Amino acid sequence: MLKVRFFEKNQKLNILCLGAHPDDIEIGCGGTILRLIEEVPKAQFYWAVFSGDEKRGREACESAKVFLKKVKAKKIDVQGFRESYFPFIGAKIKDYFEKLGKEYFPDIVFTHYRNDAHQDHRVISALTWNTFRDHFILEYEVPKYDGDLGTPNLYVYLNESHVERKISYLCDVFQTQKEKQWFDEETFRSILRIRGVESNSPSKYAEAFYCRKIVF
Ligand SMILES: [Zn+2]
Repeated sequence: MLKVRFFEKNQKLNILCLGAHPDDIEIGCGGTILRLIEEVPKAQFYWAVFSGDEKRGREACESAKVFLKKVKAKKIDVQGFRESYFPFIGAKIKDYFEKLGKEYFPDIVFTHYRNDAHQDHRVISALTWNTFRDHFILEYEVPKYDGDLGTPNLYVYLNESHVERKISYLCDVFQTQKEKQWFDEETFRSILRIRGVESNSPSKYAEAFYCRKIVF
Protein backbone atom coordinates (compact mmCIF):
# COMPACT_ATOMS: atom_id res chain seq x y z
CA MET A 1 0.00 0.00 0.00
CA LEU A 2 1.39 3.42 -0.95
CA LYS A 3 1.67 5.56 2.15
CA VAL A 4 0.79 9.21 1.84
CA ARG A 5 2.39 11.99 3.85
CA PHE A 6 0.49 15.20 4.15
CA PHE A 7 3.09 17.27 5.94
CA GLU A 8 6.78 17.95 6.53
CA LYS A 9 8.49 17.43 9.85
CA ASN A 10 9.34 21.12 10.30
CA GLN A 11 6.08 22.47 9.03
CA LYS A 12 4.06 24.85 11.14
CA LEU A 13 0.98 22.82 10.51
CA ASN A 14 -2.28 24.46 11.59
CA ILE A 15 -4.65 21.83 12.83
CA LEU A 16 -8.29 22.50 13.59
CA CYS A 17 -10.19 19.98 15.72
CA LEU A 18 -13.96 20.33 15.91
CA GLY A 19 -16.22 18.35 18.22
CA ALA A 20 -19.91 18.74 19.00
CA HIS A 21 -19.54 17.40 22.55
CA PRO A 22 -16.78 17.01 25.10
CA ASP A 23 -14.88 13.77 24.25
CA ASP A 24 -15.87 13.58 20.55
CA ILE A 25 -12.51 14.83 19.26
CA GLU A 26 -10.60 12.49 21.54
CA ILE A 27 -12.70 9.44 20.64
CA GLY A 28 -12.60 10.22 16.92
CA CYS A 29 -9.02 11.31 16.40
CA GLY A 30 -7.18 11.37 19.74
CA GLY A 31 -4.56 8.85 18.64
CA THR A 32 -3.92 10.67 15.37
CA ILE A 33 -3.47 13.91 17.27
CA LEU A 34 -0.91 12.28 19.58
CA ARG A 35 0.95 10.96 16.54
CA LEU A 36 0.89 14.32 14.76
CA ILE A 37 2.26 16.09 17.83
CA GLU A 38 5.23 13.69 17.82
CA GLU A 39 5.88 13.86 14.10
CA VAL A 40 5.27 17.57 13.54
CA PRO A 41 6.56 19.26 16.70
CA LYS A 42 5.72 22.75 15.43
CA ALA A 43 2.09 21.91 14.79
CA GLN A 44 -0.37 24.45 16.13
CA PHE A 45 -3.80 23.51 17.32
CA TYR A 46 -7.20 25.13 17.47
CA TRP A 47 -9.48 22.89 19.50
CA ALA A 48 -13.18 23.77 19.54
CA VAL A 49 -15.86 21.92 21.50
CA PHE A 50 -19.37 23.20 20.92
CA SER A 51 -21.25 22.07 24.01
CA GLY A 52 -20.75 21.18 27.64
CA ASP A 53 -22.38 22.16 30.92
CA GLU A 54 -20.14 23.28 33.74
CA LYS A 55 -18.86 19.83 34.67
CA ARG A 56 -18.50 18.44 31.17
CA GLY A 57 -17.06 21.71 29.90
CA ARG A 58 -14.38 21.44 32.57
CA GLU A 59 -13.60 17.89 31.49
CA ALA A 60 -13.39 18.99 27.85
CA CYS A 61 -10.85 21.66 28.78
CA GLU A 62 -8.84 19.35 30.96
CA SER A 63 -8.77 16.64 28.31
CA ALA A 64 -7.67 19.05 25.57
CA LYS A 65 -4.85 20.19 27.84
CA VAL A 66 -3.77 16.60 28.48
CA PHE A 67 -3.80 15.63 24.79
CA LEU A 68 -2.06 18.87 23.79
CA LYS A 69 0.33 19.10 26.72
CA LYS A 70 3.41 19.02 24.46
CA VAL A 71 2.00 21.66 22.10
CA LYS A 72 3.14 25.23 22.59
CA ALA A 73 0.79 27.06 20.24
CA LYS A 74 -2.76 26.05 21.01
CA LYS A 75 -6.17 27.53 21.52
CA ILE A 76 -8.83 25.59 23.38
CA ASP A 77 -12.37 26.90 23.11
CA VAL A 78 -15.29 25.18 24.84
CA GLN A 79 -18.65 26.67 23.91
CA GLY A 80 -21.98 26.11 25.63
CA PHE A 81 -24.42 25.45 22.77
CA ARG A 82 -27.39 23.37 23.90
CA GLU A 83 -26.65 19.67 23.47
CA SER A 84 -29.04 17.64 21.25
CA TYR A 85 -30.55 20.84 19.83
CA PHE A 86 -27.91 21.77 17.25
CA PRO A 87 -30.23 21.51 14.22
CA PHE A 88 -32.58 23.97 15.91
CA ILE A 89 -29.94 26.50 16.89
CA GLY A 90 -27.94 26.17 13.72
CA ALA A 91 -27.86 29.91 13.03
CA LYS A 92 -25.96 30.61 16.24
CA ILE A 93 -23.50 27.83 15.53
CA LYS A 94 -23.13 29.05 11.95
CA ASP A 95 -22.20 32.50 13.32
CA TYR A 96 -19.40 30.86 15.30
CA PHE A 97 -18.13 29.13 12.15
CA GLU A 98 -18.31 32.34 10.11
CA LYS A 99 -16.06 34.06 12.62
CA LEU A 100 -13.71 31.09 12.89
CA GLY A 101 -13.38 30.85 9.10
CA LYS A 102 -12.22 34.47 8.94
CA GLU A 103 -9.60 34.22 11.64
CA TYR A 104 -8.14 30.72 11.34
CA PHE A 105 -6.65 29.08 8.27
CA PRO A 106 -6.13 25.39 8.97
CA ASP A 107 -4.03 22.95 6.97
CA ILE A 108 -5.98 20.00 8.34
CA VAL A 109 -9.49 20.00 9.77
CA PHE A 110 -10.79 17.14 11.88
CA THR A 111 -14.56 17.06 12.08
CA HIS A 112 -17.52 14.72 12.38
CA TYR A 113 -18.55 12.27 9.68
CA ARG A 114 -21.17 13.58 7.24
CA ASN A 115 -23.43 10.53 7.75
CA ASP A 116 -23.09 10.35 11.52
CA ALA A 117 -26.44 9.41 13.09
CA HIS A 118 -26.19 12.04 15.82
CA GLN A 119 -27.89 15.25 14.79
CA ASP A 120 -25.39 17.49 16.57
CA HIS A 121 -22.49 15.74 14.86
CA ARG A 122 -24.06 16.21 11.44
CA VAL A 123 -24.57 19.93 12.02
CA ILE A 124 -20.89 20.37 12.86
CA SER A 125 -19.86 18.32 9.84
CA ALA A 126 -22.08 20.31 7.45
CA LEU A 127 -20.90 23.66 8.80
CA THR A 128 -17.28 22.54 8.53
CA TRP A 129 -17.72 21.99 4.79
CA ASN A 130 -19.72 25.23 4.46
CA THR A 131 -16.95 27.22 6.07
CA PHE A 132 -13.73 25.56 4.97
CA ARG A 133 -14.32 25.24 1.27
CA ASP A 134 -10.79 24.83 0.06
CA HIS A 135 -9.25 22.80 2.84
CA PHE A 136 -8.13 19.32 3.69
CA ILE A 137 -10.86 17.83 5.86
CA LEU A 138 -10.85 14.48 7.61
CA GLU A 139 -14.09 13.22 9.11
CA TYR A 140 -13.74 11.02 12.16
CA GLU A 141 -16.05 8.34 13.53
CA VAL A 142 -17.69 7.99 16.94
CA PRO A 143 -19.03 4.51 17.85
CA LYS A 144 -22.50 4.70 19.36
CA TYR A 145 -25.85 3.00 20.06
CA ASP A 146 -27.22 4.13 16.70
CA GLY A 147 -24.88 1.77 14.87
CA ASP A 148 -23.72 4.16 12.20
CA LEU A 149 -20.19 2.94 11.55
CA GLY A 150 -19.40 2.86 7.87
CA THR A 151 -16.53 2.19 5.53
CA PRO A 152 -13.81 4.78 6.03
CA ASN A 153 -11.17 5.36 3.37
CA LEU A 154 -8.19 6.87 5.17
CA TYR A 155 -6.32 5.10 7.94
CA VAL A 156 -3.75 6.39 10.40
CA TYR A 157 -1.49 3.79 12.00
CA LEU A 158 -1.08 4.18 15.74
CA ASN A 159 1.65 2.63 17.82
CA GLU A 160 1.12 1.01 21.21
CA SER A 161 1.88 4.25 23.05
CA HIS A 162 -0.66 6.28 21.06
CA VAL A 163 -3.30 3.65 21.77
CA GLU A 164 -2.56 3.36 25.48
CA ARG A 165 -2.41 7.12 25.99
CA LYS A 166 -5.57 7.79 24.03
CA ILE A 167 -7.53 5.25 26.04
CA SER A 168 -6.13 6.13 29.44
CA TYR A 169 -6.58 9.90 28.92
CA LEU A 170 -10.20 9.33 27.89
CA CYS A 171 -11.00 7.03 30.80
CA ASP A 172 -9.16 9.17 33.36
CA VAL A 173 -10.54 12.57 32.44
CA PHE A 174 -14.18 11.98 31.47
CA GLN A 175 -15.41 10.78 34.85
CA THR A 176 -18.99 11.96 34.14
CA GLN A 177 -19.26 9.44 31.30
CA LYS A 178 -18.27 6.41 33.32
CA GLU A 179 -21.81 5.22 33.97
CA LYS A 180 -22.50 4.96 30.24
CA GLN A 181 -22.24 1.30 29.25
CA TRP A 182 -20.28 2.05 26.10
CA PHE A 183 -17.75 4.42 27.57
CA ASP A 184 -14.89 2.09 28.41
CA GLU A 185 -11.49 0.88 27.42
CA GLU A 186 -12.87 -2.11 25.53
CA THR A 187 -14.97 0.02 23.16
CA PHE A 188 -12.12 2.37 22.40
CA ARG A 189 -9.65 -0.45 21.83
CA SER A 190 -12.07 -2.51 19.72
CA ILE A 191 -12.67 0.12 17.10
CA LEU A 192 -8.95 0.81 16.82
CA ARG A 193 -8.31 -2.92 16.41
CA ILE A 194 -10.94 -3.30 13.67
CA ARG A 195 -9.50 -0.36 11.76
CA GLY A 196 -6.06 -1.86 12.32
CA VAL A 197 -7.25 -5.11 10.70
CA GLU A 198 -8.65 -3.21 7.73
CA SER A 199 -5.42 -1.28 7.17
CA ASN A 200 -2.96 -4.08 8.01
CA SER A 201 -1.42 -1.93 10.72
CA PRO A 202 1.95 -3.25 12.01
CA SER A 203 0.88 -2.46 15.60
CA LYS A 204 -2.60 -3.92 14.90
CA TYR A 205 -4.23 -0.55 15.65
CA ALA A 206 -5.36 2.40 13.57
CA GLU A 207 -7.81 5.26 13.52
CA ALA A 208 -9.90 5.70 10.42
CA PHE A 209 -11.40 8.69 8.63
CA TYR A 210 -13.55 9.66 5.72
CA CYS A 211 -11.62 11.78 3.28
CA ARG A 212 -13.86 13.06 0.52
CA LYS A 213 -11.29 15.10 -1.31
CA ILE A 214 -7.52 14.89 -1.73
CA VAL A 215 -5.60 17.19 -4.06
CA PHE A 216 -2.10 16.39 -5.25
ZN1 LIG B 1 -20.84 13.65 20.40
